[in-house]
Amino acid sequence: MTMNRTENSFFRKTRKNAIVKQVREHYIRPDIPCLSELCSRTPPCHLRVVADSTLLSAEATHYLIPDLSVVSRYLEILEQEELSNLVIAQTIMASLEQHDRLRTYRRLRQVTSDPRRRSVFFYNEIFSETYVARLPNEGQKEREWRALCRVAAWYHHHLNGLLPILLLSENFTQSDLTSQESSVGIVVCSVKQYLDRFWPGCAVLHELMGSLKDAVFEEDLTLERIRMTGKVGELLKKSNVGEPGYEEYKAADELEAGVKSGRYFQGVLRVSPSNRDQAYINGGSKIGGDILIIGNRHRNRAVHGDVVVVELLSENSWTVPANSMSYDLDMAKAAEEVGEQLARQSSEIRPTGRVLGVITRNWRSYVATVQEDAIDQGGNVLLTIPLDPIIPKIRVRYGDVRAISRQRIVVRIDSWPTTSQYPNGHYVRSLGPIHQLDTEISAILVEHEISVSQATQGFSEASLREMPEDTQQNPWKPDPTELKRRRDLRETHTVFSIDPPNCQDIDDALSVRDLNDGTVELGVHIADVSYFVKENTQTDLEARARGTTVYLADRRFDMLPAVLSERICSLRGNVDRFAVSIMWTLDQSYNILSTWFGRTVIRSACEMEYEQAQKLLNGAKSVEGLDQSLAQKLRQPILRLAEVLHVFKARRSAKGALELESSEVKFRMEEGQGINDIIPKDPKEIHKIVEEAMILANSSVAERIYQSYKDSALLRRHPLPVRDHFKMLEKAAASRGLSIDYSTNKSLADSLASCAQQYQNDREFIRLIKTMATMAMSEAGYISTGAFNIDQYHHYGLALDFYTHFTSPIRRYADLVVHRQLMACINGSRAATPEISLESRHTSLFLHNAKLSDLCDHLNRKTRASKLAQRSQQGPIIENGVISEIRANGFLVFVPRFGIKGPVYLKDKDGNPVVPTSLLSGNQEEDSTYISNCTLSISPPTTISVQIHGSPLPIIFGLFDKVRISLKLHMSHAHRHSVYMTLIGLHQSEPAIKKTIGERQLLPEITEGERHRLQRFTIENVAESGLDTFVFRQTEVDNSAYGLLEKFRRMAIIELGNG
Ligand SMILES: [Zn+2]
Repeated sequence: MTMNRTENSFFRKTRKNAIVKQVREHYIRPDIPCLSELCSRTPPCHLRVVADSTLLSAEATHYLIPDLSVVSRYLEILEQEELSNLVIAQTIMASLEQHDRLRTYRRLRQVTSDPRRRSVFFYNEIFSETYVARLPNEGQKEREWRALCRVAAWYHHHLNGLLPILLLSENFTQSDLTSQESSVGIVVCSVKQYLDRFWPGCAVLHELMGSLKDAVFEEDLTLERIRMTGKVGELLKKSNVGEPGYEEYKAADELEAGVKSGRYFQGVLRVSPSNRDQAYINGGSKIGGDILIIGNRHRNRAVHGDVVVVELLSENSWTVPANSMSYDLDMAKAAEEVGEQLARQSSEIRPTGRVLGVITRNWRSYVATVQEDAIDQGGNVLLTIPLDPIIPKIRVRYGDVRAISRQRIVVRIDSWPTTSQYPNGHYVRSLGPIHQLDTEISAILVEHEISVSQATQGFSEASLREMPEDTQQNPWKPDPTELKRRRDLRETHTVFSIDPPNCQDIDDALSVRDLNDGTVELGVHIADVSYFVKENTQTDLEARARGTTVYLADRRFDMLPAVLSERICSLRGNVDRFAVSIMWTLDQSYNILSTWFGRTVIRSACEMEYEQAQKLLNGAKSVEGLDQSLAQKLRQPILRLAEVLHVFKARRSAKGALELESSEVKFRMEEGQGINDIIPKDPKEIHKIVEEAMILANSSVAERIYQSYKDSALLRRHPLPVRDHFKMLEKAAASRGLSIDYSTNKSLADSLASCAQQYQNDREFIRLIKTMATMAMSEAGYISTGAFNIDQYHHYGLALDFYTHFTSPIRRYADLVVHRQLMACINGSRAATPEISLESRHTSLFLHNAKLSDLCDHLNRKTRASKLAQRSQQGPIIENGVISEIRANGFLVFVPRFGIKGPVYLKDKDGNPVVPTSLLSGNQEEDSTYISNCTLSISPPTTISVQIHGSPLPIIFGLFDKVRISLKLHMSHAHRHSVYMTLIGLHQSEPAIKKTIGERQLLPEITEGERHRLQRFTIENVAESGLDTFVFRQTEVDNSAYGLLEKFRRMAIIELGNG
């Protein structure tokens, strides 16, 4: 290959305004590919270079080349999913780099790395056919423009003029082209002209362009500030000291030097969800905990999530973090706080600081509502109130206030000048009218950074075209050639699946049989999704972008089209299905002798429900829904399965596996009515057995792929807990005379077991302690083996050295990647079938560590996002709770049934007692009238006592006391309807109440209250579990259930078991 070297020099202004000359050696290559499906060469020029990169589509009507002016101002338009087939020239990227506009750079990179966008990065600056040398006295802008024109002309010729090449520019027009370029059909247009011509009906794009036109971006402000150095800058600063007058940020290199020397501290700014006036960053080992940042002035325009540099304030302003719960605290935030505050609750004096500068902005799209009084005032600058209360109000310019006044809208922050109380942003799009179901769902998705199109649009045409046929007339049948390549288990193995009722997407099935030589063969069979979804097909790209199936209470957003997820991949009963099977041969003590991995064909004997399998396990003679002979056939395998997996579970427990609380709830749906019920998940023995089988499969696969891919296996690890996070739990447990040792998973498991032992009659307390332990743990995440040392692969919660996600390929993209890795491993040791060898050609994905790490990050984000969204759901009403924290103005109550936590206030904002009358009367209707003659004495962290005048003894609320609370809906315009808690009384079984007020006086009221409750709710007695389980139903259809349900969303917990 011939390469030419040239030298490329330019002047660069540093952030401190020094001018430096940079010289770059420049290598020119002759072989840069066009990356278009329309390539006119045979073979296409991209084949030589990259196997799996995104290509510009052959079906496009034009290709788009944006220039720097468009990228700077209208990047967000380019980011909209409507636009595709962009050619991002290296010229643009180099220019962004040179001007330190790394955020813009990264966002553009994201566009080209999303395969659905069909957009490419084109290395024009190192390509001999497109390189443009700078002419003497030519400005940088002009040279860049010529370079882009050259790119456009090159594409035009290379693709034989098959489609128009558009140059997008705000600075140049058609008349800036050479006559030759013009004559071959290259078109220059502005963003407005482009949208008018190609997207005339797309209101979203036009509105967005309108709001971006006037936006002032932070980058522009910074450049402005750099330009106005010295006295001019000082003058400007002075003249702008209006209120609130934030301080300018220090220059980047000054901040950097300060952090290096230890004078300043760098960290991610977190705003306390329970008290928004307080934010903090982790001060690292030198500070030994958090640095508090109190008030807006010290926060200095930093927004939750920004990476900031902080300077400590003088020691006399250090303070104890506020202990009161703020009054607009909602339950979701309170729940989130459990995890945060565990680490941060402190009665010690903490250092305080102020923000000197922002290293990285972490602004995202926010769902917001127009502030109500803005509507009367008119004018076109509005204040919008983000749904997430820790985000400040955002100023937005919009022409027609009334049009969006009752809508949920998406806004983005652009800049926050020192003179402005609130950040400036722009309107992006409307999600629809407030409190409408579809709007609220879209809002949840935007807030969790899940693409709205996943919710609103189905799968693309292109992806549906790839689907195999499966209709009534022509049902899908296994291909006979493919059948021959697979191990056939249809006649030899009794395979069955165990799932919740009405499960459509059955990922996994099981089998177990005794072999003649006294050994036992255990099988886990997983849907062979990787056979149907080949890498880099349209379906694969969409699945990757979706990342996971998102389950909301009454609907789900699939990762794969229904024909795969519900039918052809789903391991349904009595039909032939392709599977990837793992079969362990076990000796008589159930030690693993050997493990077989491979592709199989199965025919499941039965789609069992958990309930049915549990009944078989309990020895029931007949089971509803199973015919006699089937029950007979399945009983023995179920019993054997239980026996085997109990042994495996016991072994894992001996190694320190944790039994934690998941606080998972499930929703009962009624056709056409939405959610009408919420019930806690109550794991039965059979759940744990199935889960153990999946854990075994996942860990066996993890070990297998690690053997073959030491540097690039996709594993899932769960790191050791962070010491600080356990402090609160330790304290809480200590108040009951318990000790929690979390030095190893084994010791933690032992301490939790001993708590459970000592308090075996107090299930709520045990549940609270376990939940606190769960939340104090680190989160599990995906890793690529190359990025970590082997001693860091460990899964702490499950007590396993290797773990991965393999068993849910229909619902999680990570599992699909792992399937491909496993298939490639097997292929390495056996003769390649054509189909497998095709896959291994694409193993470049796994071998490319950086790429896999990106994918890991993406999956981590998506998994968390979908978990949060799942919890965005709720229901009623009167419940038992446990006091989990005492605060200066009330306490936080943990409700084990829903796994949520919320504030109960005993003092109002002015410090007056607000102790509900219901505490005395037991009447739940009286929870918002207050006892007038009482005094409170509060002594955190242990007790609050309420002295009612005339009563001999105070009512004392202590940590871990049980209370009855009422969950109610609060209607809100700006925010979602929220749930709040009020205190009804002490738990009946709690002796304190009788002791305090006198049994005889209270009993009638309590009984009255009970009767009331019985009328409102149906009670189901679930005899099997030996527990009285209440199944609550709402009395009226509540169509704002989504608003309510949202409040459960923050209880994201590390996964358990199969997680
Ligand atoms: Zn080509």
